[in-house]
Amino acid sequence: MKTLNFRIVPLATEMAEAARRAAASGAPDHAVITADSPRGYPCRHCLRWAQPGERVILFPYAAIPSGHPYSESGPIFVHAEPCERYRATHEFPADLRSGRVFRAYNSSYDMIGAEVVNGNEPEAVIEKLLQSPETAFVDARSVTRGCYTFRMERI
Ligand SMILES: [Zn+2]
Repeated sequence: MKTLNFRIVPLATEMAEAARRAAASGAPDHAVITADSPRGYPCRHCLRWAQPGERVILFPYAAIPSGHPYSESGPIFVHAEPCERYRATHEFPADLRSGRVFRAYNSSYDMIGAEVVNGNEPEAVIEKLLQSPETAFVDARSVTRGCYTFRMERI
């Protein structure tokens, strides 16, 4: 496996647990749904596809915090049952090698670049975005629905 010059940053376990608590308490912006397809419900905590029959929580997540021109909050899934946070942070998640767009941001949360994988190796696309010294981090999002998936930071 190729060694990366960036690390994968999955959703924090505290955020996943907070979402599970909010769903259990009936928060109207936290919906519990059952996955009905094998590649429609990526969990942002374990970075794996929820399998048909597994329950996930759908809730809004502010990937880019408020107070900036590019501030953005949008829907993400986490497994409804506890799952293990993705640990192979030096390897690109195998489940998510396709169907992603990569957005580069500077340290002020301004979007300064974006690339679609388009059949290339995702590692090469991300390394290209990180070649700019301005790039502070790169976010992976769904190329079709635009939903935040995970972050990549320089090592
Ligand atoms: Zn999970």
